[in-house]
Amino acid sequence: MTEEKAEDKNKMASVFLPALGGMAVCGGTHGNELSGVYLVQEMERQRKEKGDGVWPIPVTTVLSNPRAVKECRRYIDTDMNRCFSKAVLSTPITDSSPYEVRRAQELNNLLGVKGSDDVMDMICDLHNTTSNMGLTLIHYSASDWVTLHICKYLQTKITKVPVRVLVLDFPINDAYNLESVSKHGFTLEVGPQPQGVVRADIYVIMKEAVDLTIDWIHKFNSGTEFEGGDVEAFKFIKSVDYPRDPETRNLTAAVHPQLQDRDFCLLKRGDPLFLSFSGETVTCEEEEPLHPFFINEGAYYEKGIAFHLAKKWTLTVPSVQVHTINSA
Ligand SMILES: [Zn+2]
Repeated sequence: MTEEKAEDKNKMASVFLPALGGMAVCGGTHGNELSGVYLVQEMERQRKEKGDGVWPIPVTTVLSNPRAVKECRRYIDTDMNRCFSKAVLSTPITDSSPYEVRRAQELNNLLGVKGSDDVMDMICDLHNTTSNMGLTLIHYSASDWVTLHICKYLQTKITKVPVRVLVLDFPINDAYNLESVSKHGFTLEVGPQPQGVVRADIYVIMKEAVDLTIDWIHKFNSGTEFEGGDVEAFKFIKSVDYPRDPETRNLTAAVHPQLQDRDFCLLKRGDPLFLSFSGETVTCEEEEPLHPFFINEGAYYEKGIAFHLAKKWTLTVPSVQVHTINSA
C-alpha cells in the first residue's frame, strides 16, 4: 500500500450503524457435524446453570435439525442448509413435504422471517467439514460491514489456525443457507473433522470463534469504534466434479495426494488434481490461478463436487461505530 492510499483510509469517516439486538447460535443444521451440536448443548447447560446473564448480549441457542442429530445423519429427507431460499421458504407445506423443508419454515418463523424488519440481527450457524479448512467464515455479502468487521476481528484474534473469509456473491433471495435468514451473520465451518465424530481441537476453535463474535457485538453495542481496513477474502467461482465413467457415473479417480488437505492453496494450470484408479494423474486446466476449498468433503460426493474454486478478493471496510449508545 502506498503512503497516500494509507492516508486516504485513515481519513475515512466512521459509518454509524444500529446496535445489534442479539444473536442466534445454531448447531446441528447438519446432524452429523458434532462440534456445533455439542457447543449448542454446552451453551444451553451454561444458561441453565448461570442464567441469561452468562453472556453480555441476548443469545438464542437452536438445535436446528433435531431428528437428524438424533440419528447422527446429515439430514432425514433433504439437505436443510439448501432450504432457506425465498422460494423454498414460501413453498406450501403438504403431507409429502420433506421434513427439512417444514423445519426450515419453522426456523424461519422462530428467527423472525427472512427479509422482514424484525428478523434476528445475527445468526452464527455452526458446521464441520471433513476438509482441512481450518476456520472458514462463509456469508453472502461483500458490503455487510458488521459481518466483515467480525470476520476481521476473528482473523486478528485467532492465531492457532488460518481464518478465511469466503463470500458467496449472489442475491440474498437466492441465498439458501440458514444464516441468510438474519440481517448479518455467517456459517462457521471448522475442519478437518470426520462426520459423526467430535474432536476437542476442532471444538475449541469453534467455541473461541463464537465467544469472540459475542465479544465483538458487546463491544460494538457499548460504543467501541472499530477501525476500517482491508479484509482478505475469497470469492466463490465454481464447483469441480470428480472424473466419472460416462455410462455408470461411478468415480474413476480420487483427489490427488498432492492436492488432498491443501485447501486454499494456489492452484495453477498443470498442477495435479486427481489420481485415477488406474494410476494416471489428471491436471488442472484452468486459465487463471484459483484457490480450491472443500477438497474431498465427505458430504459432497452425492452432490457431484470434488472441490470448489475461489478467487482471492481484498475487501475494504470503513470504520464502524454504533449510532446510539444506551445511556442507561
Ligand atoms: Zn454442514
